[in-house]
Amino acid sequence: MNSQSKNESLLVRQAAATPRGVGVMAPFFVDRAENAELWDIQGQRYLDFAGGIAVLNTGHRHPQVVAAVQAQLARFTHTCYQVIPYESYVALAEKLNTLTPGSHAKKTAFFSTGAEAVENAIKIARAATGRSGVIAFGGAFHGRSLYAVGLTGKVAPYKTAFGPMPAEIFHVPFPSDEASFKQAREAVARLFKYDIEPSRIAALIFEPVQGEGGFHVMLEEAMQWVRTLCTEHGIVMVADEVQSGFGRTGRLFAMAHHHERGITADLLISAKSMAAGLNLSAVTGHAKLMDAPAPGGLGGTYAGNPLAIAAAHAVIDIMQNEQLPTRGQLLGDQLQAHLRALQPRVPAIAQVRGLGAMVAAEFRHPDGTPNAAFTKAVQAYALSHGLILLTCGMDANVLRFLFPLTIAHAHFQEALGILEAALLNAVTVAA
Ligand code: PMP
Repeated sequence: MNSQSKNESLLVRQAAATPRGVGVMAPFFVDRAENAELWDIQGQRYLDFAGGIAVLNTGHRHPQVVAAVQAQLARFTHTCYQVIPYESYVALAEKLNTLTPGSHAKKTAFFSTGAEAVENAIKIARAATGRSGVIAFGGAFHGRSLYAVGLTGKVAPYKTAFGPMPAEIFHVPFPSDEASFKQAREAVARLFKYDIEPSRIAALIFEPVQGEGGFHVMLEEAMQWVRTLCTEHGIVMVADEVQSGFGRTGRLFAMAHHHERGITADLLISAKSMAAGLNLSAVTGHAKLMDAPAPGGLGGTYAGNPLAIAAAHAVIDIMQNEQLPTRGQLLGDQLQAHLRALQPRVPAIAQVRGLGAMVAAEFRHPDGTPNAAFTKAVQAYALSHGLILLTCGMDANVLRFLFPLTIAHAHFQEALGILEAALLNAVTVAA
């Protein structure tokens, strides 16, 4: 078999053996990866600006993560924390209780995936309030399990054919600018008038910066409005930091930006980059809320897996030692400046936005309608020239950049070069 056919023959086996519902972006299979670089099974090299969807803020195989996981592997790999506990779980909970914004008494429970942590955050809010309703936002992504997908604010492809959705989830517009903020306030007022009284709402869940929805940053005043709404009605304010957390936005958590102005969520969800590719998620929050579910109500066979916990300890050390949130801010600023400088030559770039290293570019036609074709063309050119990019947004017209915060300077510059060529090529193709 020649090397050319390796990916192709695997694609044939993939189509025959796995369902189409597991949609796959790349037409090649990975062999190995190192920090921001990835090689496929044919030896082709790529720069990875996807990071397995925001999981690799510390890059592929950071030596400290590898060492921590190897050391744990040599001791034990599984006991189920709820059967035989281990110190590293408690120590990581202590760290998250300290590192998440707010100096109030907190507790942390660990799970395996983002969706699982989202579901458990809602369970905690329900147990603490004795209520059932939940407010979420249009364009939100909270996961694919049946309750989490109910919270997700996008029908296709996530909810298509999977209904009915769980009861008493209410979506309102995400407040990312003055106009949508006004719509959000009006929608909540209508909700309380037409559908459900505020005293039956257990939780309001939001992403401080929407991820899949298009890297929309929640407006500062809107965050204050959410806090006031929750406090006024006894609603648990739940920040889903699965994508925005662990150094992506210039702080360890995006909510740190708001904490400086006195706004703190009641529960905060972490996952993805927390354990650098091992399966780990967490819910951290007020000790009183966290203690609402009865013993046995939280947990899971693999929840807080020791290998993943070991990785997370290493990630926190790396974040601090290498000052990655600060470096991410610098790289994010550079990327935003680069994209803005290209705007005159690439008029389809309608907006460059983000927080820290959570940067995105949105593409529109001259008449203002979303330009998914242009977005796809940039992504495809970049991929065929060795740069892995992800799209996002309700209309698939946004490119997001999820490079490792540890990326070598030369690789970052190389990626900017490919990105520039991809944008200019798309201009030519579209002309
Ligand atoms: N919340 C947010 C904000 C996410 O971005 C994601 C994943 N993209 C999830 C929840 C779900 O995480 P998982 O895929 O690990 O279940």
